[in-house]
Amino acid sequence: MRSHDPHEDPPAKRRPEPYRGPPVTLGHMRALGCRHLLIYCSNGLCHHSAIIEADHWPDQTAIRDLCPKAVCTRCGMIGADVRPDWSPHVVA
Ligand SMILES: [Zn+2]
Repeated sequence: MRSHDPHEDPPAKRRPEPYRGPPVTLGHMRALGCRHLLIYCSNGLCHHSAIIEADHWPDQTAIRDLCPKAVCTRCGMIGADVRPDWSPHVVA
């Protein structure tokens, strides 16, 4: 009978990296007609989301660089999921 080791290490957590291309910048986003950012709180219990204007950041700002700077206004969590808000452009 094989003994089971209860202290077996769980598989190492890797950062999800769904996108490996060059960083999407605000300039790129604006060129496509999008001027707002959707911010999702990364606190798993909060689910707060907000739409903000991106007008006050320069074009070369990478959207993913804003993620660690975003602070949730509901729970105070620092670090959020920032992505372009394409919703006004989606035809329902
Ligand atoms: Zn939050």
